[in-house]
Amino acid sequence: MIFELNEEQKFFQNRVRKIYEREVAPLVDEYERQETFPVPLFRKLGEEGLLCIRCPREYGGPGLDKVSECISTEELNRICAGIGAGIMVHGGLAADPILRFGSEELKRSYLMPAVRGEKIGAFGLTEPDAGSDAAGIRTVALREGGNYRINGLKTFISNGTICDFVTVSAYTDPAKRGAGINLFVVNREDPGFSVIKKLKKLGNHSCDTAELAFDDCCVPIERMLGEREGGGLEQLEETLKSGRITYGARSTGVGQAAFDTSLSYVKEVRRGGEPLKRSQAIRFVLAEMAMSIEVMRYTTYRGAWLFDRGLAKMKDASIVKLFCTESLQRIVQKAVEIQKEAGLVMENPVQRYLRDARLFKITEGTSEIQHLVIARDLGL
Ligand SMILES: Cc1cc2nc3c(=O)[nH]c(=O)nc-3n(C[C@H](O)[C@H](O)[C@H](O)COP(=O)(O)OP(=O)(O)OC[C@H]3O[C@@H](n4cnc5c(N)ncnc54)[C@H](O)[C@@H]3O)c2cc1C
Repeated sequence: MIFELNEEQKFFQNRVRKIYEREVAPLVDEYERQETFPVPLFRKLGEEGLLCIRCPREYGGPGLDKVSECISTEELNRICAGIGAGIMVHGGLAADPILRFGSEELKRSYLMPAVRGEKIGAFGLTEPDAGSDAAGIRTVALREGGNYRINGLKTFISNGTICDFVTVSAYTDPAKRGAGINLFVVNREDPGFSVIKKLKKLGNHSCDTAELAFDDCCVPIERMLGEREGGGLEQLEETLKSGRITYGARSTGVGQAAFDTSLSYVKEVRRGGEPLKRSQAIRFVLAEMAMSIEVMRYTTYRGAWLFDRGLAKMKDASIVKLFCTESLQRIVQKAVEIQKEAGLVMENPVQRYLRDARLFKITEGTSEIQHLVIARDLGL
């Protein structure tokens, strides 16, 4: 076994680190304060080929592997988890299903502009009454001649107010629980699509989140992913499997940022006349943080490595998400506590890491749901 990135991955890591430090870091405070997503930055990252990292060259992407996607995700989320959320949803949840299950026409009209940063994607699964249980959605898409008429509400949709298209899940056959679901690409301009309201959240402020309505929203049959009715639940599971591994990288990035701030603080500050770094209690906390981050990173890489070889099962992705997002909670909590009252002032980014991390336990499947998936794999 070789626990090392290959030369191409190392080169990519170095490149993206420089780009995110140069292009993203100076914008974070402004966009977090305004609670808006930086669309001009999004376009620039499209030009750099960093929005849909696994998309093959024939569709305009760099055609890199899942490990590289995780490398990029970690580096971006180390700088800003809010912007990282918008980029992840766009590439991993909105565009990726089009790449994997969409027709050539959908790839040309939606995937390729998404790769270039010309179109922003959103992913519409969660509803006011259904989140963890995807089969419990109520949105329906009923066939009428050459079209589907979509009716329903979606909530907590990242990129919701700024998206150009949404990859939406809906029942084409409501009588078949779970088996009657399909994914559709809905255009912002489609009649019957509307943004109800923008939502204010605890964290990820620079990611736009909204409630969306589909009111007799008419889309042509060609906008359905896959060739037949049904099969959408499997497509959702495949999409979420990839997304949950990405969450390992998001958590590692935020954890690394919290650790870096803590380490510099401990090295600089004196308490009671003594350098803080002399305190054994503080040194042990830092050692534990460093240990957790290293394990999180390698657990994520392992999940990505399995995914690249088609070997990742749902429980592998759940292990990555559960372990990394839960480990992150302790890291950010300790990072704030080490700095005492200084960790709570809004100018200090460490309070942002604490707020952002809390959301990670919920999105793309809560911790309880990851426990259920792992237990199911144990035959329980
Ligand atoms: C910041 C943010 C961004 C998001 N972005 C998107 C997006 O872009 N697109 C999208 O579709 N969704 C998005 N979501 C929604 C997110 O995926 C859901 O919140 C999540 O799946 C949980 O669903 P829910 O909120 O409906 O909770 P519910 O499913 O109602 O669950 C409520 C509670 O019950 C627990 N629970 C549920 N079922 C079980 C069970 N069987 N056993 C034990 N406990 C259970 C859950 O763990 C949770 O604690 C986002 C959420 C957040 C917070």
